[in-house]
Amino acid sequence: MEKSKVNFDVDVDVCIIGGSIAGNYLACLLAEKNVNCIVIEEHYELGKPFQCAGIISQKILTLLDFPDDIILNRVHIAEIVAPNLVSIKMSGSESPVIIDRVRFDAYFGCKAQGLGVKYYLGEKYLKHWALSKTDVIIKTSKRIIKARMVVGADGPFSKVAAHFNQKNYVIPAVQARFEMKYPIDQTSMYFNPRWKELFGYVVPEKEGSVCRVGLATKNHPNKAFQLFLKKLNLSSVNQIDRQGGALPVGLLAPMVFQNTVLIGDSACMVKATTGGGIIMLVSAAKILAPAISLAISQKNFSHNFLYHHYERKVRKSIGRELKLHYIIRILLEALAPHEFNHFFHLYTTTSLQNVIREYADMDFPLKVIKKLFQEGTFIRYIFYLGFKYYRMIPKVFSILFK
Ligand SMILES: Cc1cc2nc3c(=O)[nH]c(=O)nc-3n(C[C@H](O)[C@H](O)[C@H](O)COP(=O)(O)OP(=O)(O)OC[C@H]3O[C@@H](n4cnc5c(N)ncnc54)[C@H](O)[C@@H]3O)c2cc1C
Repeated sequence: MEKSKVNFDVDVDVCIIGGSIAGNYLACLLAEKNVNCIVIEEHYELGKPFQCAGIISQKILTLLDFPDDIILNRVHIAEIVAPNLVSIKMSGSESPVIIDRVRFDAYFGCKAQGLGVKYYLGEKYLKHWALSKTDVIIKTSKRIIKARMVVGADGPFSKVAAHFNQKNYVIPAVQARFEMKYPIDQTSMYFNPRWKELFGYVVPEKEGSVCRVGLATKNHPNKAFQLFLKKLNLSSVNQIDRQGGALPVGLLAPMVFQNTVLIGDSACMVKATTGGGIIMLVSAAKILAPAISLAISQKNFSHNFLYHHYERKVRKSIGRELKLHYIIRILLEALAPHEFNHFFHLYTTTSLQNVIREYADMDFPLKVIKKLFQEGTFIRYIFYLGFKYYRMIPKVFSILFK
């Protein structure tokens, strides 16, 4: 087929690839701005398959409007468990919510459809190419689409990003839901060298009787998961169902190209400490929607325009915080079990506890880190780590100044 002469089935301003939270929420924002857009989703049912622990900071309630009954639970205590099973419990002003992730995604998909966005379900994006500065052609498994812009909201293994030779570093995740008695008010994070890229987690869904239990690691995830279940004294008899998934880990990826932008997991908008991505991608969508609307009104889809109105702003806001998450992740991976105990001891016996209680923020750590650097105990601890892990210092600085 000659690329400049193409017969197409649909002509639209924006073609969003991926009908999960990033694609659906962005579609709502664009429809509210009267931008003509469609969503291509390879699955037939929005929200499925379920692949999430569903724990989000309470900021989500100020960022988004959605029905109360999508919230299944709220937790107030975060238990941190060291590799030798010594633990501390932290509580503060954060009261994260546990959501029904399937209904959450579907809610924004239905809302977008109600606002006039057309969804093409069970259809796969295959590739796209530029026809001119203001037009691109998208080929899916079922049709040819002409659009002004393509949005890659197609997750960690983004094909849209791959089109620009961009690939995320991805860690496989395993999760299962269990019938188990567990404090309804508490979530736990188990650190262990076997799954050092993240932590094992227990998140109570409701009434403390069903919990989401999971971990992510490159290193034999299924075997690591079995070991984790053993530590928790859980047997498969109590397993309700099982989910898989993948977490992109690293720094924000480039997210604008001529006529194309990326959002969410496709651009690695994920906290490297927890694997959580929802607050970040919602924040990015709020920047992206007006940028796209402006690009359409000015008929400017160039890399420079999109960089100035989208990527630059995202890097200035969530990008700085995501860098800190990545640095904290590198430090956590390096810590030996006794160093967790050392930190726990400092936490329980010094004023660090008050600072963390007052300023900790599971999404935006900059504020609490600034406050901690006013504490002598913390500065001494960081110096101790700096001496012990001096080889990591250049890496930390290269991340900070990237
Ligand atoms: C086990 C696990 C637990 C997690 N827990 C949390 C948590 O507790 N809190 C939190 O904030 N985050 C959590 N996350 C991360 C969170 O789920 C992601 O950040 C979020 O789902 C990213 O949304 P997205 O829309 O960018 O991508 P995705 O949710 O990955 O959606 C991408 C969509 O694109 C579609 N798609 C992909 N390729 C194509 C194609 N070629 N054509 C058409 N459609 C395509 C997919 O079917 C999918 O619907 C977790 C992730 C995992 C794996």
